Amino acid sequence: MTTATGPVPRAGILDIEAYVPGKSAAPGASKIYKLSSNETPLGPSPKARAAYNSVADKLELYPDGASTKLREAIARRFGLDAGRIVCGNGSDDLLHLLAGVYVGPGDEGIFTTHGFLVYRIAILAAGGVPVVAPETNYTADVDAILARVTPRTKIVYLANPNNPTGTYLSFHEVKRLHAGLPPTTLLVLDAAYGEYARTNDYSTGLELASTCENVVMTRTFSKIHGLAALRVGWMYAPARVCDAVDRVRGPFNLSAAAIEAGAAAVDDVAHVEMAAEHNAKWLPWVIAEISALGFEVTPSVANFALIHFPKKPGRSAVDADRFLTARGIVVRNVGAYGLPDALRMTIGSEEANKAVVAALADFARATA
Ligand SMILES: *Cc1c(COP(=O)(O)O)cnc(C)c1O
Repeated sequence: MTTATGPVPRAGILDIEAYVPGKSAAPGASKIYKLSSNETPLGPSPKARAAYNSVADKLELYPDGASTKLREAIARRFGLDAGRIVCGNGSDDLLHLLAGVYVGPGDEGIFTTHGFLVYRIAILAAGGVPVVAPETNYTADVDAILARVTPRTKIVYLANPNNPTGTYLSFHEVKRLHAGLPPTTLLVLDAAYGEYARTNDYSTGLELASTCENVVMTRTFSKIHGLAALRVGWMYAPARVCDAVDRVRGPFNLSAAAIEAGAAAVDDVAHVEMAAEHNAKWLPWVIAEISALGFEVTPSVANFALIHFPKKPGRSAVDADRFLTARGIVVRNVGAYGLPDALRMTIGSEEANKAVVAALADFARATA
């Protein structure tokens, strides 16, 4: 038996690789296009900004711990029961809380090979065992997930659409996944990019979360609403799940600024529409232009695209990343997602998108 010389983290904690956010800097570049964190090029609604500013003269007051104004605004917008909405300090907060509530030591949690990194961290932090289901063509595979379910499986996380691949499962497939899970396994449908997905067979999962006792849908204000700095997320869940999460969440997990700005953002439907329209215009353009340069691009329904590079020295993803950074274009290196030969770029402003295509054309020419 070894004698500890100080406090020892419990099992699983030291197996966690800390999340590394997308870079922001491009040293030496005169103009920077930050396309590394799937932020919106349109910024937040001006109404959200005004609501944020309105909090400045009341900073001595605790916020409403129940985020009532925000939950009611969300409920109104989507026709939901406000009592079944729980808000989080970003949806990351909720993803962690759900693991903390449902996963105990030795329990299993499933996610897919190139799934969002926070799922693994949340499962390990809860003392659980991460179980990875392989994907097919960079897309979650329902049969592969179901094949890994055991009596110990307490949670399944599915980002739909997924980050960093941009791929999605049809609602039919999501329902098939749910139908194959035991009632004691919680299915978490993370629809962080749900507003961008426009194909007819896609659904955020709201309908399942409304009608099933073991389905939760999570959403964020960090992406299409442009409030990443404020940390605002929410989930729609069965009453029993909301009750359990409410017992363990921080009593004031959203700041007053987050509540006010979030409520104003969700009410500004026209602003969200504009951001979705911008993406619907530029996503196909970016994918077509970059594909035409000879790079493989994974089909995406989100606000980013995954670009693949050959392993050849001088032409690799690492080389492309360096080339783009020198031009002030900051994209996401996705090696930590098991994709060392790819880069993920967010759909930016018209100027940013054109800058990326021009830079990749030069990169392709220089390395041909
Ligand atoms: C960006 C993102 C989120 C949102 O996280 P927040 O904590 O709300 O900023 C959640 N899930 C996925 C898959 C994401 O890419």
